[in-house]
Amino acid sequence: MMDHSRRNFLKTSACAAGLCVAGPLAVAEAFSADESGHPSGRLVPFPLASVRLAPGIFQEQEEINARYLDSLTVDRLLHSFRITAGIPSSATPYKGWEDPTCELRGHFAGGHFLSAVALASAASGNTVLKSRGDELVSGLDACQKKIGTRYLSAYPTELFEHLAQGKPVWAPFYTYHKIMAGLLDMYLLSGDADALRIAEGMGQWAHEYFWGISADQRQRMLRTEYGGMNEVLANLAAVTRKERYLDAARLFEQPSFLDPLSERRDELQGLHANTHVPKIIGAARMYEVTGDRRYRDIAEYFLAEVLAARNYVIGNTSLDEHWKTPPDQLKGTLAWTNAECCVAYNLMKLERLVFGWTADARWMDAYERALFNCRLGTQNSQGLKQYFFPLAAGYWRAYNSPEESFWCCTGTGVEEFAKFADTIYFRRGAEIYVNQFIASTLDWKEEGIGIQQSTRFPVEQGISFKVSCAKPHARAIHVRIPGWTSGAEIKINGRTLESVADPGSYLAIRRVWRDGDTLTVGLPMELRQEPLPGDASVTAVLYGPLVLAAKLGAAPTEETSRVIHSGETVPKNLPPPEKLPEVKVAASKDSVKPETWVQVDSSADLRFKASGASGSLDLTAMYKIRDERYSVYLQTEGSKEQS
Ligand SMILES: [Zn+2]
Repeated sequence: MMDHSRRNFLKTSACAAGLCVAGPLAVAEAFSADESGHPSGRLVPFPLASVRLAPGIFQEQEEINARYLDSLTVDRLLHSFRITAGIPSSATPYKGWEDPTCELRGHFAGGHFLSAVALASAASGNTVLKSRGDELVSGLDACQKKIGTRYLSAYPTELFEHLAQGKPVWAPFYTYHKIMAGLLDMYLLSGDADALRIAEGMGQWAHEYFWGISADQRQRMLRTEYGGMNEVLANLAAVTRKERYLDAARLFEQPSFLDPLSERRDELQGLHANTHVPKIIGAARMYEVTGDRRYRDIAEYFLAEVLAARNYVIGNTSLDEHWKTPPDQLKGTLAWTNAECCVAYNLMKLERLVFGWTADARWMDAYERALFNCRLGTQNSQGLKQYFFPLAAGYWRAYNSPEESFWCCTGTGVEEFAKFADTIYFRRGAEIYVNQFIASTLDWKEEGIGIQQSTRFPVEQGISFKVSCAKPHARAIHVRIPGWTSGAEIKINGRTLESVADPGSYLAIRRVWRDGDTLTVGLPMELRQEPLPGDASVTAVLYGPLVLAAKLGAAPTEETSRVIHSGETVPKNLPPPEKLPEVKVAASKDSVKPETWVQVDSSADLRFKASGASGSLDLTAMYKIRDERYSVYLQTEGSKEQS
């Protein structure tokens, strides 16, 4: 146990998690002071209101996502909440996982949607989406008041009784978590005070309901997916400084899952990935809120293990939504149903938290890997999102329908594409950390300093920063030097720095900054390869942070193969995968430079060529693959066993 009292952790932890905002919120302001109990050394993100994306691929994707959110209407989103509360609704309900007969209804309509519009309004000043969120909160408020027990959901409490009695039911607490999280986001990011009151009511209902159940029965109920109930209750405790929510969070802990991790044992085989990553995010927040080191050990071990032993090269994990193999054994697991997108969203959330404790660049390298390879590119031009990320050869991208799917990955997707600004810049005390290379501006009003980051990264292998400040500022700016570069070059006002930090660390530049000072960072990209864990004969190629994919011809053009108009998550009538494209290189167990068999055609266009067994293969960055069949993995001249 650290030497910080529980009370002080409660006071400070909301800010540490980025859960405090400057503004007219009395409760949140109480957390903004850096009091004596602040866990020193922790890095925290800048509030979204301080960061704006500048024109570039991320801003373009943010705007596409905002247009999709704007296409959804509050009356239709509220339909099942109103029916459940006994309030008439003549709106046409949405379908898929929001259908009035689906046991997950409300997870998107009253949960992810609220989080997404809260993020969008804070990150880009989108007032239309802010008012849409406020209107939805007001509708949810009326439903909760009508029910009268502080319970709020789009389905009746009967589903919780099914869970308690061991009857078949999907995941009522999972949905409940999403709604509470959406309301907290509306409070913290959008300043909607009603949203906090509603979320507190929901937290009290959940606490009382679950407290009234025996410990044994609770553990049985927790075998069913419950999202991040522990996380949202810890967040509620941090925001309100009420310990009862911490007590409630502890009711959602599973020793059977956490104990092996605390002993650094990987017993993940057989588990459902997206059921379990949120539980670790909850543990991470419990560390931040209580200071109990055991939670931190669990989170750090879990994240390191999944990234090292269970991830595919794109930065995500899972087959058929599960961890199906022992660690380091992904041989034979390439399929359509790889790497469920919401798992990447949750892993990145965890990477961001663990980075805050350690300042270790490896976590931001991992974040970048996922961001550029399995988040960017998973939204189409209509704002529709992917569910699975196929990694077998010859498949293509498929998306949810606008109004008939509403998967978990639709929900985490609309959040992800609204919050690209949330991890670019962190701070520790007065020091600034530049984590991600995305065209943007940071305006730190309280300190009177700003940074304009200009780049077309990754099609440009460099970034320039311009500092603005009313008066000279002595301050350290830390810039991530990614693990993938070997020749970083730094210039301040045009003069080259003689020493640069090692790849995979942060370069600290301490100086008196003056208005207009420039910092340029050159990050040359090189080709390298990474074998599939457990099968050295199957390899993937990277260029800097970018995973390359072989282009295998046009994707099917019929609508049903590209957009899934139901709650199903895989297109019907999928053909079997193709054989992996063969390349002229011997298998290697180690990462080697693949210059002998891959050439850069154009770094500006991200075009590459590989020597294939039957002619040359065209490769490009995976994120640029839109309407083509592809293969991320390639078969070397090794054993050529099927993967
Ligand atoms: Zn999902």
